Order: sequence, then C-alpha cells, then structure tokens
Amino acid sequence: MIIDVHTHLNNYHEETVLPLQVSLDRLLGVMEENKVDYSLILTSYKVNEHRPSVKQVVEATRDIPSLGTVAGISYLNYKEKDLREMADYLRSGEIKAFKLYPGYEPFYPYDKRLQVIYELAIEFDIPVMFHSGDTYTPKGKIRFSHPLHIDDVAVDFPELKIVICHVGNPWIRDCMEVVYKNKNVYADVSGLVLGDFSDKFERYMKEQLEEMILYAGDPQYLLYGTDWPISTMKSYLNFMKQLDLSDDKKELIYWKNAAKLFKIDVSKLSNSPAVKEQPKKAE
Ligand SMILES: [Zn+2]
Repeated sequence: MIIDVHTHLNNYHEETVLPLQVSLDRLLGVMEENKVDYSLILTSYKVNEHRPSVKQVVEATRDIPSLGTVAGISYLNYKEKDLREMADYLRSGEIKAFKLYPGYEPFYPYDKRLQVIYELAIEFDIPVMFHSGDTYTPKGKIRFSHPLHIDDVAVDFPELKIVICHVGNPWIRDCMEVVYKNKNVYADVSGLVLGDFSDKFERYMKEQLEEMILYAGDPQYLLYGTDWPISTMKSYLNFMKQLDLSDDKKELIYWKNAAKLFKIDVSKLSNSPAVKEQPKKAE
C-alpha cells in the first residue's frame, strides 16, 4: 500500500493552460501505473489559470476516494473570507492539512500572523505542512525556508502537528534534529529531484536519509511523497527500494504514518489489506 502525501495539479510549463480535469486524469493515470493507492494534492499559495484554488480542487476530487486536498495558504494574501472557507471545509472533512510556503513567500514560520492558522489546525486536528529548503524558483528567499525555524513553532504549539516538506533539503541535518527533538514534527521525502534521480544523486540521498534514521530513530516521523509532477513517481519508488531498511519500517514510510497523521481511511482504498480479505458485501 502506498500513500503519496505530496502531489500538485499545478501546471509548471506555463506556456499552455491545462484544464484541471486533464491534470487530474494524468495524476490518476500515473498513480495507477505505479500502484499508488492514495495521493494528497497540495494547492499553491498562488491561484491563477495554471494553479487551481482550494475550492476547485476540493470540488473536483470530493467523489474520488483515492485523493485528498491540502489547502495552500498565502501568507501575504490570505483574507478573513479564506479562513472562513477553510473552516467550512474543515468541518466537512474535505481538507486534510494546510500548506504554507516560506521561502516562496517572505515570512518565518513563527510569524505571529500565522497563529490563527495554527489554532485552526489544532482545533480540527490537522497537520500544517511547510515548504522547506531549496525553492524551485531562484526568486525564492531561502533564509525563510530553513527547517530550523520550524523548531520555534513546534515548541510554541506542542499540540500542532507539523510536516517539514522535502526533509528540508539540503539542510537535512537541521531537519533531522528538529524531527528528533519534537514529537509533533514529521518530514516528507518529496521533491528531492527534478524529474528522475541520477545514480550518483540517488546514492547521495540514500546516505542522507539513512543517516537521518540512524540519528532520529525508527522512522515514525517520515512520510512518502514525490512532489509529482516535479519529480516522477517511478523514480521515487525505485529510490525507496534502495533504502537499507526493514520492510516494517518501510511500511511506516510508505503509508502507515501518513494514514494516521492525515486520518486517511485506508479501508476504503482498493489495495487495503482489510478490504482484500473481506468478501464484497452488497449494499
Ligand atoms: Zn511541492
């Protein structure tokens, strides 16, 4: 069973506008090809013809049991009405997490303006995901996306569940310390490459992740994610196979940690062990 906690429906080749349905069909197709059971779709901090809004993604995916929405929030632009819309979706269970984009937008995660968002996340018991590390665009300001800043939020909001995206790459050591020290902090392994891994880079990343697990202990905090379409699903699954970890630890990373953290009902998914064992009942 595989849960990808980090995918996008954004169109990064900005010369053509792709209808949302086309990106959605592509995602479902690539999930089927790679036997991925469930994916979280993260919306952007920007909304435009290439980047669908939370509302668009929620409405397009609400009847698809293998997909869930993570609401991107713009630090610079969020308005009271956005928070109200968010609260409605939280109440109906249609948002699985929030995503913030420090680095892409100039703010530190411990900024006071975000307190209301953290309190909302705690109230509905959903995690907040943070972009962390390198930015896809050279226009990003990476002092804001250093994973060490997450420590302040983790300490000040002990009930808040936090995900450091991309294991803070290239600051993986800083990320491992924040994850090790704070029980409420997780990390996803998404977005470590553009496209496919080269052999050299794959070896390098394998060592980094193994070092992280050696230092921070059993990977109850690590989440499988790709950043598709930026990274390919196929190369990520190959990469995971290289990791020198027992199968039960890999299971934690592939889906168990994610199912618990994001409250994903795996019994509804096609590959679920529970579903497979039971004969189908007529309803
Ligand atoms: Zn991403």
